Amino acid sequence: MSDSPRPPLTLRDLAGFPVTTIKSIGPKKTAALKKMDILSVLDLLTHYPRRYIDRTNEATIAGLDFGEEGVILARVKSCELRRLRGKRTMVIAYLSDATGRLRLTFFNQHWRERQLQPGMEVVVFGKVEDYKGSKQMSNPLVDMVGDQTGRIVPVYPQSEKSGVSTNELGKWNGLALKKCEPRGFSDPVPQKVLDHYNLSSRSHAFTNIHHPETMDDAAVARDRLVFDELLRVQLELVQRKLHLERTSAGIEHLLDGNLVGEFHRQLPFELTAAQHRAIDEIETDLQSSKPMHRLLQGDVGAGKTLVAVSALLVAVQGEHQGALMAPTEVLAEQHHLGITDLLAEFKVPDDSNMFGERPLRVELLTNRITGADRTVVLADLANGMVDIVIGTHALIQDKVDFKSLGVAVIDEQHRFGVEQRAALRDKNTSGLVPDVLVMTATPIPRTAAMTVYGDLDVSVLDELPPGRTPIKTSWAQGPLDEAIVWDQVRTEVAAGRQAYVVCPLIEMSDKLEVRSVEETFEELSGGELQNVRLGLLHGRMSSVEKEEVMASFRAGGFDVLVATTVIEVGVDVPNATVMVIVDADRFGIAQLHQLRGRVGRGSHKSYCHLLADEVSNDGEERLAALVRTTDGFELAEVDLELRGEGTIMGERQKGQNDLKLASLRSDKHWVERARDVAFELVDPATDLADYPELANELRLFLGETESDFLLKG
Ligand code: ADP
Ligand code: MG
Repeated sequence: MSDSPRPPLTLRDLAGFPVTTIKSIGPKKTAALKKMDILSVLDLLTHYPRRYIDRTNEATIAGLDFGEEGVILARVKSCELRRLRGKRTMVIAYLSDATGRLRLTFFNQHWRERQLQPGMEVVVFGKVEDYKGSKQMSNPLVDMVGDQTGRIVPVYPQSEKSGVSTNELGKWNGLALKKCEPRGFSDPVPQKVLDHYNLSSRSHAFTNIHHPETMDDAAVARDRLVFDELLRVQLELVQRKLHLERTSAGIEHLLDGNLVGEFHRQLPFELTAAQHRAIDEIETDLQSSKPMHRLLQGDVGAGKTLVAVSALLVAVQGEHQGALMAPTEVLAEQHHLGITDLLAEFKVPDDSNMFGERPLRVELLTNRITGADRTVVLADLANGMVDIVIGTHALIQDKVDFKSLGVAVIDEQHRFGVEQRAALRDKNTSGLVPDVLVMTATPIPRTAAMTVYGDLDVSVLDELPPGRTPIKTSWAQGPLDEAIVWDQVRTEVAAGRQAYVVCPLIEMSDKLEVRSVEETFEELSGGELQNVRLGLLHGRMSSVEKEEVMASFRAGGFDVLVATTVIEVGVDVPNATVMVIVDADRFGIAQLHQLRGRVGRGSHKSYCHLLADEVSNDGEERLAALVRTTDGFELAEVDLELRGEGTIMGERQKGQNDLKLASLRSDKHWVERARDVAFELVDPATDLADYPELANELRLFLGETESDFLLKG
């Protein structure tokens, strides 16, 4: 960073300067910063303030009454450590500002004595108490601001623990900015984009996020930095999407066959408008020479299966094959049963046959299909005699060859990774790539979907088929409520219905899980449900055993299934009308919603009971949300609100860890704008060739491996 006239600084330049470039950062502080993952000047500049203190807006000591809470900026007058009985300590400090004196007390925080040096300026946040008629705060939050003169004081996260004060961070950022000043910051985002969205320059943004003159300046700076973070994510996703379209040729499916139309005509009900819309969107993709890469989002029971089968039939009527991949054997088998049933009467053309046609063939392929059965299925997949195959991961093994895989549907996306989708795409050996439809029953809010699934097109089933009786959900707290729950289970069973009782996984331990579900089973069979036929299902049983239990439950062989979350997704027993969830507060919103979706699938009124006695605040909000609404999208919003984006993002894409300032909740409009801009900037043929600095920046944030992946597809 010399003062000679050199080009403005890129973020990669900044990443190349170690923090020691800043003179006042010595070895000790360098080590402390390292603990905070701050190694370079870029890390320092992107270590943003957590909040700001506006000195012009500060409460004064005299201005805060007893019982009031507030932030006060004052100077330390004295500080003293007292040893109490046992090993306890108490630190007493006196602060003063122009209006008065404030006593601070800290229990068992002896290090405060060293922290609160007389003469220092500090900001304290707490509630004013009456201590013998004068003002006091006990254990307030303290931020060290030192002798900064700005009107607005930035407060940085994690400053105390690591031995780096917020004051130092502010100072070093100031020094870093000063060092950058001669060269200035290079701005890779085109000026017309900045103008269009009223975004400030990068220089303005970095300066004002750290040292704003006014709170408005800080807000303007934040907008720009939020936009940059989201733009990087969208550029990566949009490139990935366009790259896939460019480098692979899809099958141009014909829509003039008769299977799909016939399939819709013979259904005993009308498709919902949402199903029609999704099918149209999918057919448009299928017809095109670009491979489809689409996500179908729809709440439990929204009728995704019919949409999937319609897509598979488009492949079959063009003499290709369809595959449906489910996350578990139970689900694959269930899909196989259901779809075989739906397509029982269908015929496909067959020249080798004297009638010129043969029955449409649906087969199952899981690890449980072995020996001669497996050999036959594999052979007939390879020669094209199997039209639709339903299975698990077994489908993407090397030994499975298709004659011509046209459409692949992946159910319950969250259990499959990007690599597995890619493996399915590779199953067509003709050089054409099969069209891929991914289905998920876990709705996520639109802007979150744009971020997490931004490389897919999205169709949404936002409408349930008519005539569903809504599921009544209640929260049972304590033995009295629970007694009512079991009473209702008995009543429903007496009326010929069935019920689920679900127990949580405990600490991810198989052993404990089994114990909890077995204990519940024993308790119920010896107590509340002693005259009811109970079955037991858990993850430790072999898949043969599991399927036997499920088949028996489906056939009405027993009344109540006590299970772990193995039944979470897709299990369909229309006669089941009660779902009891034990220790419901141990489940997340999405999981509770999934479990609840196992009932209400028939024409009978259904109930969901959440059992939970002592619940955290968070748990309380979750359960209350479940009681209030059955709308999966609304619940997804609540979930995002409560848990933040981290959980939604998961490990799906590395670049998303880059969201330091942006929030998918409060910055929704920026997500959409960033996506629009990404589509504007990425060229379908040459990616970011016109914006080399943006491309470079992406590689910096995503790491070279991730961008390798991008290039390889
Ligand atoms: P999802 O997979 O989205 O959870 P399914 O496809 O399993 O939902 O459908 C749930 C139930 O609703 C099935 O029994 C199905 O037959 C029925 N169904 C689907 N679409 C309709 C419709 N348009 N009208 C009435 N019932 C429907
Ligand atoms: Mg389903």
